[in-house]
Amino acid sequence: TTFDGLYKIDKTTAQCTFSPPRIDDQVVQAVSDALRSGWITTGPRTKEFERKLAAYCGVPRVIALNSWTNACELVLRWYGIGPGDEVIVPSYTYCASANIVLHVGARPVLVDVADDFTMDLEALRRAITPRAKCIIPVDIGGLPAAQDAVMRIAEEQRGIFTARGDVQAQLGRALVLSDAAHSFGATLLGRKVGAQADITGFSFHAVKNLTTAEGGALAFNLPAPFDADALYALFNTMSLHGQSKDALAKTKPGAWRYDVEFPGWKCNMTDLQAAIGLVELDRYDADTLVRRKAICERYHAAFSGDPRFLVPTLRDDLRESSYHLYMLRLTAASEPQRDAVIEAIAQRAVSVNVHFQPLPLLTAYKRLGYRIEDHPNAYRHYAREISLPVYYDLSDAQVDTVVEAVRASVAEVLGA
Ligand SMILES: *Cc1c(COP(=O)(O)O)cnc(C)c1O
Repeated sequence: TTFDGLYKIDKTTAQCTFSPPRIDDQVVQAVSDALRSGWITTGPRTKEFERKLAAYCGVPRVIALNSWTNACELVLRWYGIGPGDEVIVPSYTYCASANIVLHVGARPVLVDVADDFTMDLEALRRAITPRAKCIIPVDIGGLPAAQDAVMRIAEEQRGIFTARGDVQAQLGRALVLSDAAHSFGATLLGRKVGAQADITGFSFHAVKNLTTAEGGALAFNLPAPFDADALYALFNTMSLHGQSKDALAKTKPGAWRYDVEFPGWKCNMTDLQAAIGLVELDRYDADTLVRRKAICERYHAAFSGDPRFLVPTLRDDLRESSYHLYMLRLTAASEPQRDAVIEAIAQRAVSVNVHFQPLPLLTAYKRLGYRIEDHPNAYRHYAREISLPVYYDLSDAQVDTVVEAVRASVAEVLGA
């Protein structure tokens, strides 16, 4: 099938795929238990997963939903963002970060990125207008963007912000919605990601660090007088058609009557997904992150100090990555040369990837008038980037195979 390259692991050879999920007996047992419990939609496991996620992130409330995309689109709708509004997004990201802006009828204002692939703060400052209703910094590869600085820039907008509706008036500035699809478990300023931006969106898609097959979550961290419990209840209702009672609340005998308060959406998480998430979360810090970090450190040891390569930032004084992607760059390659290197690596039966094609290179965004010429850093990073496999079951021997495949392919294509 077309997904073989992404998901199948062949443990009998040194060859490796890119990012298969960690599905072992513990996960299979947990899902099986959930199935046999008789409760398969949103229920006790989802609620437990949410409580544990909130405790992990150090925030008062988390809601688990069916994807980052639907969760974050609900945030834009909640904040009343629509036609005439602007939302600032880095050009170097997965399309979801900006697609949600188009879904609500607002305009994505794309800004270029800095050397570490995160949003360029000066470019962000220049992009702020009275119509900017939201800023979506992206923790690319798992390295946290400077959320604290982004929050300060949002604060600076206060004087010129034009609020529409009560919610916007209450906050009085652009909402900071962090795209932490890659960075669950990363730290910034000594705290887990989730505790910095107003609202943080996580993805639990199959290829992400922590998976529920498909899934996502929102961590609420808004300043007073916003109330996290009230927000949780509202988003719960928004994710269930605006229905005043969820399935769990309706199980009480005789409690059949409900109302629909507004025409809401449908994007709740199921207990089958949460069952996977609970296993994943339980072993995340002590096991998953430890292994991912060891893999990235092994790549680092191999490529640091070799002038042909530019290694990614994994941590600095302010932050530590969740080690989601190992985004290697070739120092001197053009885009066609990088493509040829990837072809040569594939010939050696090793799967690599490119994260990401900047949005202005994609047809949908070209049609809207975005030009890659306005994003020189994004293009320069993309043209030289190769993401190496990082996943729990990748062995040290396989990491060494990847390293050798990359070195040999670079020598073959670029000489030296
Ligand atoms: C995966 C991803 C998303 C979307 O997550 P879903 O859960 O699949 O909706 C958003 N942003 C980035 C940067 C991603 O990599």
